[in-house]
Amino acid sequence: MSDKKIPLAGVIGCPVAHSKSPQLQTHWLTTLGIAGHYVPMHVEAEDLETVIRTLPKAGFVGANVTIPHKEAVMEIADKITDRAKLMGAANTLIFRPDGSIMADNTDGYGFITNLHQGAPNWNPGSGPAAVLGAGGACRAVIASLLEAGIPEIMLTNRTQERAEKLRKEFGKKIKVVEWLHAGNIIEDAKLVVNTTSLGMEGKPRLRVPLDGLAPDKVVTDLIYTPLKTHLIKTAEEVGCTVVDGLGMLLHQAVPGFERWFGQRPEVDDETRAAVLK
Ligand code: NAP
Repeated sequence: MSDKKIPLAGVIGCPVAHSKSPQLQTHWLTTLGIAGHYVPMHVEAEDLETVIRTLPKAGFVGANVTIPHKEAVMEIADKITDRAKLMGAANTLIFRPDGSIMADNTDGYGFITNLHQGAPNWNPGSGPAAVLGAGGACRAVIASLLEAGIPEIMLTNRTQERAEKLRKEFGKKIKVVEWLHAGNIIEDAKLVVNTTSLGMEGKPRLRVPLDGLAPDKVVTDLIYTPLKTHLIKTAEEVGCTVVDGLGMLLHQAVPGFERWFGQRPEVDDETRAAVLK
């Protein structure tokens, strides 16, 4: 009988039943022929540290972390990557052979890789981006756009102080614009990104004027339920290059899977279909 350990990983959240990660990771394990398992783990805040410290002893090589634990795991991890520090939150944990726990944030990687895949002709240096929203996910978007070489980010948010805070943190390339003028920045941008939750199933619609959209623009929405938000549908009708939010979710999972299971998975049409099933 073999004593080889079967690697385990999972997603820790509360609630966690809605997560698409088990479907995604299991699809990759199956297609790559890896003898591993990935499970959803509903963990209450007061049990978070105990559970995380116990998982490596039970054969876990790592975990994804979702709402509401993304900030709290930063206090538990022994090492935090620079990009997780920049985000103030982690979505990926790696349990290292020496027993230490590393926290990483792959949302920015997922966002920019999805954008390049969905809009291969988009050149970050070609002009400014209009970014709507200034919540947690927006930080990953800003960091990755700046790293890609975007010349300017016009940032607008209902609560302007949150946008101002991001400008202070990320510097002069961020220009904060009043939420009332969101329509104007769309007109001036080469890339339009919705990082608000407006347009998501169960949330109000994004009511920003979209008349500034034109075929030379790339438009992306972080929301993937529904896949075609009002913003994406309108941009598609105008002739813009559109990139939906599902790809970000898929790409952000790649670095974790590779670290845990030793093979780099592909994000292709089959992967999308497996998650949409
Ligand atoms: P968050 O931190 O709660 O931020 C929500 C953002 O939406 C804030 O900018 C907020 O503005 C704005 N907003 C909410 N309701 C609004 C309203 N009625 N009018 C105007 N603005 C409103 O959330 P998050 O974590 O950044 O996530 C944002 C969205 O991205 C969610 O839909 C999430 O599902 C999606 N997301 C997708 C991925 C992916 O992999 N595709 C990854 C992360 C997040 P205020 O600051 O004024 O409240």
